[in-house]
Amino acid sequence: MKELENLKEAVLREYPRMNKESKFNFSCHTGISCFNMCCTDVNIFLTPYDVIRLKNKLGISSQEFLDKYTFLPIDESQNHPVVMLKMNGDEKKSCPFVRENGCSVYGDRPWPCRMFPLGVASPKVSRGDDGGKFYFMIEEPVCKGYMEHKDQAVGDWIKEQGIEEYAEMGELFKEISLHDYFKEKKQLTPAKLEMFYTVCYNIDKFREFVFDSTFLKRFEVDEEIVNEIRKDDEELLKFGFTWLRYSLFGEKTMRVKAGSIDQSSRMGAGSRAR
Ligand code: SF4
Ligand code: SF4
Repeated sequence: MKELENLKEAVLREYPRMNKESKFNFSCHTGISCFNMCCTDVNIFLTPYDVIRLKNKLGISSQEFLDKYTFLPIDESQNHPVVMLKMNGDEKKSCPFVRENGCSVYGDRPWPCRMFPLGVASPKVSRGDDGGKFYFMIEEPVCKGYMEHKDQAVGDWIKEQGIEEYAEMGELFKEISLHDYFKEKKQLTPAKLEMFYTVCYNIDKFREFVFDSTFLKRFEVDEEIVNEIRKDDEELLKFGFTWLRYSLFGEKTMRVKAGSIDQSSRMGAGSRAR
């Protein structure tokens, strides 16, 4: 994690800043000599939306996906859990999804895999503030794609790679992960950290929390939303972000039902209400 912090500082300090109109030279295709080489020994942080896309692509539960394909890096400077893709234990440390003919989860590959060879950086780290956001080229010595003669604009690349689909969820996640609560150096309790992890990464478990506990007896949730979140992971994740703003940070994003006692603070956010 220290290495990543150093890289982030170097990007902000030294890397040429690109915008959506900036052009760059790059092409990746099956015949290229470095094919698949970028899919070994790589650090990939997964967003909550990445986890949903991947576990649904694989047809497994979020719990199974987390157990099989991820790990939680330990870093004392991190104020909330982050999830990384676990490489295989082979000599090359291959991504579990790479096959001879390429990425086996290509249509649902994680955000960083879509963006490559571009990265996004911002000198500001507050939620709701994209001031100064810029794109930059990632330097990857093994990659020969930079030598191909295909000039393109950053904005076109973003469209082609399906990155726009990830934007809304990314912004909603930033509302949580870059919350002012953390800027004030406050620490989440273990129960709240558990709830953060459940909502953001273990969406099937969060669904159980909502539907198999007293949750819906305690909070006003429109029937339409209840119907959506019962069957739609993406809607459930959006609802989960709203719940986290209430349960972790005390924002007034949820309504307690008349006559119900809001026990969320007493139980901790990781409550197992029955
Ligand atoms: S998810 Fe796909 S594109 Fe990303 S590293 Fe793994 S195999 Fe490569
Ligand atoms: S190393 Fe670069 S060009 Fe080669 S397969 Fe990976 S992204 Fe494509």
